[in-house]
Amino acid sequence: MSAPGTVIVGAGQAGVQVALSLRELGYDKPITIFNNEELLPYQKPPLSKGFMMGKIAQEGLYLRNPDYFARAGISIVSEHVDAVDRAARKVIGRSGTHTEYEALVLATGSRNRALELPGVELDGVLSLRSFDDAAVLRERMGAARNVVVIGAGFIGLEFAAAASKSGTRVHVVEAASRPMARAVTPEVSTYFTQRHMDRGTTFSFGDTVQRIEGSSGRVVSVHTAQHEALPADLVLIGVGVIPNSELAHAAGLATDNGIIVDAHLVTSDPSVSAVGDCAVYPNAFSKSLLRVESVQNAVDHGRLVAARLTGNRTAYCAVPWFWSDQGEDKLQIAGISLAGDERFAKGDHMSGRFSVFLFRAGSLVCVESVNRVADHMAARSLLKSGRLGRVTPDIARSEDFDLKAYAAKEVAEA
Ligand SMILES: Cc1cc2nc3c(=O)[nH]c(=O)nc-3n(C[C@H](O)[C@H](O)[C@H](O)COP(=O)(O)OP(=O)(O)OC[C@H]3O[C@@H](n4cnc5c(N)ncnc54)[C@H](O)[C@@H]3O)c2cc1C
Repeated sequence: MSAPGTVIVGAGQAGVQVALSLRELGYDKPITIFNNEELLPYQKPPLSKGFMMGKIAQEGLYLRNPDYFARAGISIVSEHVDAVDRAARKVIGRSGTHTEYEALVLATGSRNRALELPGVELDGVLSLRSFDDAAVLRERMGAARNVVVIGAGFIGLEFAAAASKSGTRVHVVEAASRPMARAVTPEVSTYFTQRHMDRGTTFSFGDTVQRIEGSSGRVVSVHTAQHEALPADLVLIGVGVIPNSELAHAAGLATDNGIIVDAHLVTSDPSVSAVGDCAVYPNAFSKSLLRVESVQNAVDHGRLVAARLTGNRTAYCAVPWFWSDQGEDKLQIAGISLAGDERFAKGDHMSGRFSVFLFRAGSLVCVESVNRVADHMAARSLLKSGRLGRVTPDIARSEDFDLKAYAAKEVAEA
């Protein structure tokens, strides 16, 4: 029998990246990934974008070709992991299999937060996390006349854009006073609200859903504090996610809104790491414990753990960035939208090409770009070189300031 190698629980973006990077770095021991989904490992972002719009087929979602994993010597076991026996260094699969590990990586991701409301069990009330969810939603969307989206976060709005494009009437109900309120500035919220409204989408902000009603088991209407009955033959609930940390918790690892890891992404057990959506880690940019739900975070976590397992131990400090495509508009964020003490937008709101600069204590900490890819890439390169903070409000406010040109000069000097 071969020596135990690395076992990865979860075949999402983070878990798969650990395996890919391990092989790239020359790791030659066994690698086993436990996958509790039907499909080969796939990307999730297109589910609410290209796939939902019918522009990307199922095959376009796969992280690697079906034969890649076998060729790379990465075993994908289609099984849910029920328990981790840390004393024996084994994971226990649902069918009773025991798999030994030398290193264990928990990449269990997150799941959609459920709404506890009368009517959520009705046919036509759905959420979006997996390929199966997206396939059902896409089919239902084509036939729907009235869609209600509960929650104006990224996924809810991306879906709203796709649904309105297919000719469906869309209403978005949001408890906060503006969309994406926890993640973007009011300038960006205002722009996107208008763009969705231009497509015919209606919103109720500061509104809460009280119940969902149906007939013969199918959804018919959504009842909110502000609306007696919003007609609906399809409802998407998009009210955030919660980390899958129960497996870690049951194994006695430290958890608190995620699996707690140190700057090297090691849990409270030195032989167990956690990566991606499920990991709470000390973030070098926000200087706080953070759990981030993004592809960048998942991929960079995966790379860092693979590097550590092959002898290159570094602390996690990758540049945080994020994107969301809503209809024709691309939002990109470089840095973490912390409560800055100063901010302003530059560019042209009217033509939908602008960036919002966020400063803290006189230093640039985050750039939100709307249809300004060059600004986003420049901000990322400045963040990477450690020079973003050298941009002061005075520098950025000047008429002829161009972030791309500034970054090229600064990075060359760094
Ligand atoms: C519709 C949608 C759109 C998104 N759009 C964007 C975007 O535009 N930009 C962006 O940056 N991010 C986006 N994200 C977020 C991004 O996809 C996630 O942050 C990323 O996929 C996290 O990867 P992960 O591997 O940590 O978790 P996941 O992708 O959630 O993978 C975890 C896997 O582990 C499995 N698992 C859990 N427990 C077990 C167990 N006990 N045994 C076996 N398997 C288990 C889960 O079923 C899942 O397959 C989007 C997400 C969704 C759902």
